[in-house]
Amino acid sequence: MYKIKPFLPQDSSAQLSERIAPRVREIAPSGIRAFFDLSAGNNGVISLGVGEPDFTTPEHIRAACIRALERGETMYTPNAGLPELREEIARYQQESFGLAYHSQDEVIVTVGSSEALDLALRAFTAPGDEVIIPSPSYVAYSPIAYLNGGTLVEVEAAAEQGFKLTAEALEKAITPRSKLLMVNFPNNPTGAVMSYEDWMPIAEIVKAHNLIVLSDEIYAELTYDSRHVSIASLPGMKERTIVISGFSKAFAMTGWRVGYACGNRELLAAMLKIHQYTAMCAPVLGQIAALESLRHGLPDKDHMKECFRQRRSLFVEGLRSIGLHCHEPQGAFYAFPSIRHTGMRSEDFALRLLREAGVAAVPGHVFGTGGEGHLRCSYAASPAKLAEALERMEGFMKVKM
Ligand code: PMP
Repeated sequence: MYKIKPFLPQDSSAQLSERIAPRVREIAPSGIRAFFDLSAGNNGVISLGVGEPDFTTPEHIRAACIRALERGETMYTPNAGLPELREEIARYQQESFGLAYHSQDEVIVTVGSSEALDLALRAFTAPGDEVIIPSPSYVAYSPIAYLNGGTLVEVEAAAEQGFKLTAEALEKAITPRSKLLMVNFPNNPTGAVMSYEDWMPIAEIVKAHNLIVLSDEIYAELTYDSRHVSIASLPGMKERTIVISGFSKAFAMTGWRVGYACGNRELLAAMLKIHQYTAMCAPVLGQIAALESLRHGLPDKDHMKECFRQRRSLFVEGLRSIGLHCHEPQGAFYAFPSIRHTGMRSEDFALRLLREAGVAAVPGHVFGTGGEGHLRCSYAASPAKLAEALERMEGFMKVKM
């Protein structure tokens, strides 16, 4: 009888790990995940760590999905997404942010905004191209820029300037290899927003150096003191900006995995080429749920935003009252208090806060060099949890100081 010989020697795992591409070996797993593995399974811990709303997706959205399943809607959709969803996205972008896109070829639906970010980096980055990223920034930007062959250039968006990107800092970072600028306002982790006036000098630099902008506007709905302004709305910017957004945050739909990209048709066609060979399409049920959210879910989104606004006041005032200086977050659902005066590094502070007070928050350094000296706390948690977290933090600060 023919015997199958073992294909690999016993000690194959070390040999196999050498076969993993160097770029992948070199990047660290998400600092947020690594940190939260430490608190996993500990029921007493209050988590202010995860960047997602604590609301369940509204009932009518879930019901629309159940009805679609019962009708047997289980097939692939067109690569770029359901045409009716693209139409709704185009209408929504126009009505909410004044950006006019053709639904046919200037909108593609992706697997979360995460896929759209990756597609854009894959489509536009050639080896050695420099990708400029304000620091602090969302944890995924630098690894995906690196994985796609980009060279990361961090630009400080410091607390002293309200965590905004400034023209001076951007100008200094420009070289002949500069290709992409990735921006995210309202910002994760700082809650900073940019006004039209803030964007004006940035847009001039971008045009002068022929950069492409990836504008991650996943928190565009969550601005508390002013309306969101997209850099794409400035003169001459729409054609060179890919607006990336999705349903995870404003519509409490993180698990449905639906996002989108809007922009210049040639640039989007390049992204679509990759999308059709890799994801093929975003999940059909997620797309149906997203369609329902845009058609009938705008009041739910407004209600959740009001809850976040109240929690912001409660939490930020609470932080200040226990002696933690906190820049007023004007968007998203994160507070980014400074812990500099404690003399501790953010990693040590967060670890001790977790172990000694049972509160999980993310050390600022995981968001880039500009994040050191801070702590990211998500206030997308119930007011009772936020109050309890503040009480524990107060106790911790008293013992520590
Ligand atoms: N961008 C930012 C700034 C985020 O905070 C997140 C989620 N934490 C994403 C993108 C990814 O969101 P999605 O669920 O749409 O992939």
